[in-house]
Amino acid sequence: MKYRKLGDSDLEVSEISLGSWLTFGVGVEADKARSCLEEAFAQGINFIDTANVYGRGAAETFLGGALEGRPRDSFVLATKVYFPMSDSDSGLSRAQIEKQLEVSLRRLRTDYLDLYQCHRYDWDTPLEETMEALTRAVDSGKVRYIGFSEWPAERIQAALDMTGVARFVSSQPRYSLLDRHVEPSHVAFCRANGIGMIVYSPLAQGVLTDRYLTGIPEGSRASRPGSMSPDQLTEETMAKVRSLNEIAERRGQTLAQLALAWTLRDPRMTSTLIGASSVEQLDDSLGALDNLEIGDDELAEIDRYATDSDINLWARSSSE
Ligand code: NDP
Repeated sequence: MKYRKLGDSDLEVSEISLGSWLTFGVGVEADKARSCLEEAFAQGINFIDTANVYGRGAAETFLGGALEGRPRDSFVLATKVYFPMSDSDSGLSRAQIEKQLEVSLRRLRTDYLDLYQCHRYDWDTPLEETMEALTRAVDSGKVRYIGFSEWPAERIQAALDMTGVARFVSSQPRYSLLDRHVEPSHVAFCRANGIGMIVYSPLAQGVLTDRYLTGIPEGSRASRPGSMSPDQLTEETMAKVRSLNEIAERRGQTLAQLALAWTLRDPRMTSTLIGASSVEQLDDSLGALDNLEIGDDELAEIDRYATDSDINLWARSSSE
């Protein structure tokens, strides 16, 4: 495992990181989830991502228990705030940030977060109020660095233009062989502004693995209502997946391994943030590290299938 510096922060994060959406606290039994976490650390992953909304606090609670006893400075811990936690609790107002931060720290059983991320942009709160609240969180020592996920470019720029407030060091966009919406402008913008990229769903939630090549297996994410949008498994997408799988086989890799190596081919992608429902899946995915090199000819061939998707980013789950 190699480590890359996250934007202008002093955080060194593993090239592959582990998330907890639809897996930890919900979805995967606690013993299995613990084994995944232990395997991740054993293989050099040091960066764990969660959000207050994952399982409405259940993912953070699971992680708080599972991480307890591990030296706090041996891993980088990130969570997020924005999505509704109750009918009256959502968004990025000063009151919400203060309240949700305290509760997240309590669930995670830690005094500080390495990275606190705004899960989406809050159009109902003035940006100044959000940035001031985030800055107070940093000044208090409860948060080391701040980041955002899927914010509009013009709002990111407005935040960067403010003086006297904490600066964002990370962006968390969706990115995979089936979704390149951040290329090229967002990636270049972030690089120019000292913002690292933590790219999520690099396996397109399992579509970029052998999971769906022969149908939808029972228990898979696609088989669970509400977890995946139906436009992710169209015939057109599956044709691309089969072609990419052939390229992976020629390289002696699984498709998951090729998909992850592809996200890491660009050094501007600081970390590729995976999920795993079992140790077997995790080991398969981490096998990508054995061969991250993709030649120019292979890249050109991959480019024929790795096109931008037409998945509507804003029409998806309200809790990712
Ligand atoms: P992935 O694209 O890595 O999908 C993970 C899922 O794919 C697994 O749960 C499993 O699903 C399947 N899978 C994983 N590895 C394999 C394998 N080797 N072979 C076969 N199937 C496999 O990432 P996620 O969509 O889970 O997202 C990763 C993390 O990113 C999240 O946990 C979260 O922390 C973050 N995230 C952030 C978002 C944001 O808005 N900022 C949005 C979404 C995610 P199955 O259940 O079928 O076994």
